Amino acid sequence: MSTKRDYYDVLGVDKNADAQALKKAYRKLAMQYHPDRNPDNKEAEEKFKELSEAYEVLSDDTKRQTYDQFGHAGMNGQGGFGGQGGFGGQGGFGGFEDIFGDMFGDIFGGGFGGQRNRRRAPERGADIRQDIDITFEEAAFGKKASIKLTRSEECSECNGSGAKPGTSKKTCPTCNGAGEVRTVQRTPFGNIASSRPCSACNGEGEVVESPCSKCHGQGSTRKVKTIEVDIPAGIDDGQMIKLSNQGEVGSKGGPRGDLYIVVNVKSHPLFTREGNDIYFDMPITFVQATLGDEIEVPTLDGKVKYSVPEGTQTGTVFRLREKGIPRLRGNTRGDQYIKVVVDTPKKLNEKQKDLLKQFAQECGEEVHEKKRTFGQKIENMLKKK
Ligand SMILES: [Zn+2]
Ligand SMILES: [Zn+2]
Repeated sequence: MSTKRDYYDVLGVDKNADAQALKKAYRKLAMQYHPDRNPDNKEAEEKFKELSEAYEVLSDDTKRQTYDQFGHAGMNGQGGFGGQGGFGGQGGFGGFEDIFGDMFGDIFGGGFGGQRNRRRAPERGADIRQDIDITFEEAAFGKKASIKLTRSEECSECNGSGAKPGTSKKTCPTCNGAGEVRTVQRTPFGNIASSRPCSACNGEGEVVESPCSKCHGQGSTRKVKTIEVDIPAGIDDGQMIKLSNQGEVGSKGGPRGDLYIVVNVKSHPLFTREGNDIYFDMPITFVQATLGDEIEVPTLDGKVKYSVPEGTQTGTVFRLREKGIPRLRGNTRGDQYIKVVVDTPKKLNEKQKDLLKQFAQECGEEVHEKKRTFGQKIENMLKKK
C-alpha cells in the first residue's frame, strides 16, 4: 500500500534508539543530504525530505508512539496529524539556520557569513569613583576643588598606538586583519567551517611589531592626574558629581569613561543639617529667658542679633528665615531654626543663693499657685484612667 520506508530505517537506527542516538543519526545524514551541499541533486533532496520527516516524527514522543503502533497508516489522516502537521515536503526547506537552528549553530557559527569583519570595536573606558571630603560651610557655599586621581592616559610616546615611534601597527599575519580565524575541517560528510577570535592579535586585526618602550605596547600608562571640579553650593553629604569623559581612557579610540565624585560632608560642631535647613541649640541663662534679652546667634553668615522675648520657655524654637543652606536649584535658601535651651546654673556662691531665695519668697504666692494647679492637673489625669 505504501512505498514509504520505515522511519527507523531512514535514519539507520534501531527501534529502541534514544533521543540522543536519533539526533546523532539525523545530524550525520542531514549534513550529507542537505540541499545546500547538493545543488540540483533531486535524489539528495528527496532523501533530505525523507530524513526530516522521519526525524520530525521520531523525535516527538507522542508521534513516535503512534508511529510505533500504527506505522505510516497512523501518520495519514486517521491519526489526526498527517497533513496538518506540516512535516515533510509542504514547508519546503528554509536555509541552514532555519532547519538546524541551535542544533548546528555551534558548528557553523559565522562561518557561512562570508567575509564578515569580526575585528574588535572601539570600547569605552571604565568609570572612576572618587571620594572628596568637604566642610559643612563648603557644602553650603560651594567650592572649587582639585582632585588627584590615578587613571590611564594615552601614552604620550606613541599617541596610544602602542607601536614604537617611527613604526606602525601591522596587519595581523595570522588572521590577515580580520580579527578572527576561520578553519575548515574536512569530514566524511563535508567541510565544516568554524571561526574564533584571533589569539595572535587579540581580535584586533593588527599587531605591534616593535612595542613602544614607554607603555610596552599597551598604548596607555597610569598617571596621577589633577582635576578641577566645581562643587555647587547646597550639595549634601553622599551626593555625586558626574564629570563626563574624565574616566579611564577607552581602547581603540573609544571614548573615556565618566568620573563620579562622591561628596562626604564633615559634621559641624554647632549646626546640624536637614535638607536645606539648619538646626542649632542656643543656650541662654534663666535670667535671659525670664527677662528677655537680645542675644547673638551664630549663622553661616556670621553672628546675627535676635531678641528673645520675656518669659521664654526652654525648648522654644525660633526661625531665622533664609539663613539655611542655599538650594541647588534656584536662588533661595533654607531656614535656620534656633532652639533655646535654658541653662540652669549649677555653681552659685552664697550671695547668689541668698538672692534667689529672696526672689522665691518675693514671688512665693505665684510660684506656689502654679505648683498647686499643676499638681491638680496630674491628679485629674490619673482619675480619668
Ligand atoms: Zn606608548
Ligand atoms: Zn589576528
